[in-house]
This record gives sequence, C-alpha cells and structure tokens, in this order.
Amino acid sequence: MDKLADDTKKEIGHDMAEMKPKVAGKAKSTQRDQAEIAEMFRRLHAIEPEPKGELEHTNAFTLLVAVVLSAQATDAGVNKATRGLFAMADTPQKMLALGEDKVREAIKTIGLFRNKAKNVILLSQALIDNFGGEVPQDRDALVTLPGVGRKTANVVLNMAFGEATFAVDTHVFRVSNALPIAPGKTPEAVEAGLEKLVPEPYRLHAHHWLILHGRYLCKARKPECWRCPLVDLCRFEPKTPIPKLPAKKR
Ligand code: SF4
Repeated sequence: MDKLADDTKKEIGHDMAEMKPKVAGKAKSTQRDQAEIAEMFRRLHAIEPEPKGELEHTNAFTLLVAVVLSAQATDAGVNKATRGLFAMADTPQKMLALGEDKVREAIKTIGLFRNKAKNVILLSQALIDNFGGEVPQDRDALVTLPGVGRKTANVVLNMAFGEATFAVDTHVFRVSNALPIAPGKTPEAVEAGLEKLVPEPYRLHAHHWLILHGRYLCKARKPECWRCPLVDLCRFEPKTPIPKLPAKKR
C-alpha cells in the first residue's frame, strides 16, 4: 500500500476499496484541455462564488480537530458533537485539561469515537510538545500528528491558512474521475492531477466546489445528471435521465 493509502487509512480507519469511484458507468476519455477545465470551474464559481467547508470551527485548532473527527462521519453529525466540545475546549491546553473521558463523552455520537477521542488528546499533547501549542502551517509537520493524514493536512492548510491545496476525499475522487478532470486510481494521483490542471483563479476553492458537486449532484449511487450544470462537458456515461413523475391515481 502506498504512502497516501496509509495516510487515508490513518484518517478514516478503513481500506482503499471505499475510495474507488462508485458511480455506475464510465467516463469515455481521460483527455481534457485546459479550456474545458476552466469552463467547469467558471460555472461552479458562478453558482457558489465563495464555497465554505461545512465543518464548524473557531480557529485552526478546532478546525483540525473537526476534520480528524469527520472521518467516516457526516459534517452535520460532527458539528452536533463539536458545538459542546469546543465550548469547553478550543485550544490544545484546554483539550488536555478536559481529558480523554470527557472528550469521549462529548463525541460519543460520532463513529469510531473511542479512537478519535484518544487521537484528539494525543494530537493536543503533540501540538504543545512540538509546536508551541500552535497548529503548524506545514504539511510534513501536520502529518506527524496522531490521526492526521495528507487529506486532513490539506484541508487545514486550505481553510486555516489559505493555501491552494487539493484535499481528495471520496467526493473529490469520484467527481474528478467521473467528469473527468484529473482521473487517477488513487487519491494521490488525483491530487497530483488537480495540482497540475486546475487553473488560477480557481485553485483555492477547487476542492470545495468538487466536494459540493459530489455531495449534492454527482452522487455515488445515482448522479443527478438531468440538473447538472456540467452535463454538456461531462463524458461520463450513461447520464441519469430526468425522473418520471409517478402516474396519477384514478
Ligand atoms: S453529468 Fe454531472 S452529475 Fe452526471 S455524471 Fe456528469 S458530472 Fe456527474
């Protein structure tokens, strides 16, 4: 298993099978020119000029914790738990003072909560011991923290520090392969493709647009092609037709 696969497993605790594109069907060709990719992002930008991540946070530390907690959990589920947690502890020092038992209790509605509570305490300790209690603006440093892999590091660098990183989660991976924009067999390959192909001025928000597109339109089981703003640029087949209205009862 490659390094990124290991990182992904570190974050989400399951194997790479879940990261394979799950949309039924195939993209016809993998070749794209820059003008087409720019046009896709132009349209996504027009629909949502300032896309935001949906994880609630108040600073770089709470963002980091929220992203660690979001593995195999919905953002809404994480937000529900972190509102109480972050009201009690929004710094590594306060998190350590709170202790693992109380962290576990606060996040018990989230999947894998025991392991995640342990990681939140360990990463708080590591931030204090190694980084002066601050979240480092450095990918190599971030991935040394317990529960933090490349994807989480990229989210933090993007959202907390404004770096144009490409965090490849299951949505970004699927959409990048379906359209395709940056096809690849691993998240690492997709990330490298996005790095190379996404033009300015779309680089900062590209991964958020792809997440939103995958979450709400280009869904894994049934992409909603009939209302997709990228349908004429998409090479994925077969497209999902507009659903038929149920026949009226007599
Ligand atoms: S047309 Fe849109 S929703 Fe359908 S597969 Fe392509 S990108 Fe996804």
